[in-house]
Amino acid sequence: MSRLPPDVPAAHQSPVNTGSEDTATPERAVRAGALYVVATPIGNLGDLSPRARDVLAGVDRIAAEDTRTTGVLLAHCGLRRPLVALHEHNEDRIAEALIAAVARGESLALVSDAGTPLVSDPGYALVRAARAQGVPVYAVPGPCAVIAALSICGLATDRFTFAGFLPSKSSARRARLQEFLHEPRTVIVYESAHRIGDSLADLVAVLGEQRQICLAREISKRFEESITASAAAVLAWQTADAHRSLGEFVLVIEGVAAATDDANAERVLRLLLGELSPSRAARLAAEITGAPRKQLYELALRAGASNQNQGENEDNDAPK
Ligand code: SAM
Repeated sequence: MSRLPPDVPAAHQSPVNTGSEDTATPERAVRAGALYVVATPIGNLGDLSPRARDVLAGVDRIAAEDTRTTGVLLAHCGLRRPLVALHEHNEDRIAEALIAAVARGESLALVSDAGTPLVSDPGYALVRAARAQGVPVYAVPGPCAVIAALSICGLATDRFTFAGFLPSKSSARRARLQEFLHEPRTVIVYESAHRIGDSLADLVAVLGEQRQICLAREISKRFEESITASAAAVLAWQTADAHRSLGEFVLVIEGVAAATDDANAERVLRLLLGELSPSRAARLAAEITGAPRKQLYELALRAGASNQNQGENEDNDAPK
């Protein structure tokens, strides 16, 4: 047990995970009188971590968003555990009682249908109740569609914000998208299959055709695919194939600072291209703006650089 400063209430102390000794064996995976928030796969069952399985095997009870869905997961693992349904319609009502049982010594795991509980999923009232009653809460980290999409999108990851689901009505959705007009951080939203086309059209209308976005679909599943391009290009890609209106979607939207940086680098490059060869213009624009030289060089070639200053020798220093 760690020593905490005296001003930290005992109710908020959590036993410290000391590493291998706490994670080694199934029988040691679970402590009595604790709540475990367990992430489960978002598509590929192989993504359930060994520790998640051990915790599910070791707890007295599992609170599940849908007991049938979790039953399938447990059967896949060869497990049978007592389940209790905890969903958005009963969570507020039963959270206190569930945590009271944990306070008396029961060990409880919380799972949702897929991914990390509480991320656009039930569990908030349960974790709040645990904190309020001084019950230790442990994370069993794992799949989460927000983080999975962020990790593959190729947009800035140093600062990001998750905005849940976009509203279902177009007027409210456009108002929400307006909030992202000047958002400097990368924005991640969830979207459902039957709204993805309309939402992309609204996104183009509000944030413009040129905003870079990533659309990731069916992450970790058989038909996983994703694209990062301008909003207009992603909309065209999505509408080009009826299959792309099926499944589960995450939308990642580039922050304005990055978009502005790109636009500025492009503006400088275009100015220089009036006077210099593509390689020299790209090198100078990279020095001025800090943008990657190779990216600017490719842009210069695409822009159909003027041949005026494009001596053969000059381009020998093209970025490799
Ligand atoms: N708690 C979950 C998590 O950690 O990702 C999210 C639950 S939320 C109710 C379900 C939404 O997450 C879907 O509508 C979709 O936007 C996104 N999502 C879940 N699984 C996904 C997947 N395999 N591929 C893409 N998006 C997914």
